[in-house]
Amino acid sequence: MDRWKTIIEPFRIHSIEPIRMTTREERAARLEEAGHNLFGLHANDVLIDLLTDSGTGAMSRDQWAGIQRGDESYAGSPSWFRFRDAVQALFPFKHVIPTHQGRAAEKILFSVICGPGRAVPSNAHFDTTRANIETTGAEAVDLTPRHDPSEILPFKGDIDVAALDRFIDERGAASIPAVFMTITNNSNGGQPVSMANLRAVRAVCDAHGLPLFLDACRFAENAWFIRQREAGFESTPIPDIVREMASLADGMTMSAKKDGLANIGGWLALDDDDIAERCRDVLILTEGFPTYGGLAGRDLEAIAEGLHEVVEEDYLRYRIRSTAYLGEALAEAGVPVVQPIGGHAVYLDARSLLPHIPPLQYPGQALACALYVEGGIRGCEIGTVMFGLRPDGTESPASMDLVRLAVPRRTYTQSHVDYVIEVVRWVAERASQLRGLRITQAPRSLRHFTARFAPIA
Ligand SMILES: *Cc1c(COP(=O)(O)O)cnc(C)c1O
Repeated sequence: MDRWKTIIEPFRIHSIEPIRMTTREERAARLEEAGHNLFGLHANDVLIDLLTDSGTGAMSRDQWAGIQRGDESYAGSPSWFRFRDAVQALFPFKHVIPTHQGRAAEKILFSVICGPGRAVPSNAHFDTTRANIETTGAEAVDLTPRHDPSEILPFKGDIDVAALDRFIDERGAASIPAVFMTITNNSNGGQPVSMANLRAVRAVCDAHGLPLFLDACRFAENAWFIRQREAGFESTPIPDIVREMASLADGMTMSAKKDGLANIGGWLALDDDDIAERCRDVLILTEGFPTYGGLAGRDLEAIAEGLHEVVEEDYLRYRIRSTAYLGEALAEAGVPVVQPIGGHAVYLDARSLLPHIPPLQYPGQALACALYVEGGIRGCEIGTVMFGLRPDGTESPASMDLVRLAVPRRTYTQSHVDYVIEVVRWVAERASQLRGLRITQAPRSLRHFTARFAPIA
């Protein structure tokens, strides 16, 4: 490394997408039409779209070249073999089952291994993971210790290992088909999980004879944090860290829309022959033949190339630094953010910023709406709207009310981020003027996608 402190984007822009400028009045009208739900907006009415880092990244020249090379043979396409080899180079599981996205992998696996009376403990389940477990009648259990959002710890994504052990003892291993570890811990602020924690979970699983699965959507970001923060990994190559994480598990579910650097795709990978066979049976019914799953050959190529690029150090250094740049600027301005800054997103602590709005009036949703109206920024509530509805239909406050500003991979420049900082600061300075919301219409599950809201007068 030379002497310069500024970390530049390790790429040049090769083709551009225009952003359509809008006014505050237009945005207020669009939000009203969308029922105060940012998922209901037309994306052309958004200036900086930080709704998700899922599938929103920019592909590289070499990924686009892979798209051209994609072979659409129904069975045994060369693109499939490139995809499988790229997956197994990092995650040497015996069976790789391609799916159209991560939730399809979850749906297939949980339909095979879950069911009424069963429970799947995790550090923290992602929303689709939880929903796919619960629709089988099983229970999704989160065991991340409660942390103060402002407390700086290196591995806040870790599971409470003692609580996991207790939980398995209480429920009985026979009713637990698998333990899940989400890396990084998305629902808990994009916080990493340490190798030490994964090893400890492995030991608990071994003691009870249980398989361990990774929800590995952000495996490369997690590996980068391990290298930065965990003793003994300072000079370990990223692919070796990834393989070590994989070596502790029996399988994984994956969304290639995150650290696959692709716009679509996912997979399920595992060692167990019997479960793999049953999963492939479901795959053929719902996704497609086992050498393409729910994907076109060209998608398999984009993912294979993405897996090579995502473990490059220049990429990861830039990626993690640019997210931290946003979070640190907001923290310095006094905006409460989850600390330390996670890998793929900055999480604004709406409950602390808006103490006058009770959780059941959705402070996260109120803040997300204000950022859109004032600055055209689209974030995502991760709080009581997303997690407050229980399977029995009652409502309770989520553990935190956050607004996630997810950073798409390789998509926005530093001046876009500087603009976001300016808007968030402006809104935060006027936080006391924001009002809560009530739900006027909502579906029975995953309500955050389609619920409609009205401001409370
Ligand atoms: C995105 C995500 C999923 C689901 O993947 P999709 O491709 O969106 O279906 C599962 N788990 C985590 C942690 C995720 O971030």
